[in-house]
Amino acid sequence: MGTTRTPRLVGRRWLLTQTGRGVVGFALLGVAACSDSGDASGTAAPADTEGSPSDQDSPNASGTAAAEGGGLEWSRVDLGFVSAYVLVRGREAAVVDTGVGGSADAIGAVLEQAGPGWTGVRHVVLTHKHPDHAGSVGDVLTEAPDATGYVGAADLTEVDAPRRLTALRDGDEVFGLQIVGTPGHTAGHVAVFDPATGVLVAGDALNNEGGLAGSNPQFTEGEQAAAVSVRKLAELAPSTILVGHGAPVLDGAAEALQQLASSLG
Ligand SMILES: [Zn+2]
Repeated sequence: MGTTRTPRLVGRRWLLTQTGRGVVGFALLGVAACSDSGDASGTAAPADTEGSPSDQDSPNASGTAAAEGGGLEWSRVDLGFVSAYVLVRGREAAVVDTGVGGSADAIGAVLEQAGPGWTGVRHVVLTHKHPDHAGSVGDVLTEAPDATGYVGAADLTEVDAPRRLTALRDGDEVFGLQIVGTPGHTAGHVAVFDPATGVLVAGDALNNEGGLAGSNPQFTEGEQAAAVSVRKLAELAPSTILVGHGAPVLDGAAEALQQLASSLG
């Protein structure tokens, strides 16, 4: 372990804030979502009526945790059945995933609260091509003209964006974050890991809708690859796990993930 790293998460502080209330109204009609929870009927629903039982600790809220010396803060953009995330270093930000179409205002509200606003966004990373994660990438890249957009190489051709996206591969670094190739859910799925704070944005390689689990089998392209990806993520021993569907895992994250990886054989 290098001497410059600060692996211990010290003095985590919490800011619970209401976000997007009255702003978020997204239509799910005709959208293929990689979650069967939430609004299964496929009708439009405002975010402030959502909130699964597992989200009771922070319904429609965005949490920010800061690791002293880690220099990274994260905020959840709770869009109801799916979440996007805002990662901030100083005055700059990366947005990870963009929700379904119509989610840009909610993401913008969290960016304002977090500090950088749209003008501070330098990177927009899509964990994968599914429309409940990539649905607002067009609006987000339009609002954030200085941002580079990224998606895993194998998903690249299936995402429409207003400007060319950069293909990500395992081991790439973006914004000081490690890109972790996690194929299975989709061939090009990537997770985002901050080595300094142990924050992992897992996309749909993991979900936490009924306890921590791997990629939802119903929406998984390759189950064996998905299991290998879970084991790969477990080796990172993350301090915090932020998932596409379900509440963040804030306590015992590494242990829970190790347990899950072991259960997959
Ligand atoms: Zn998905």
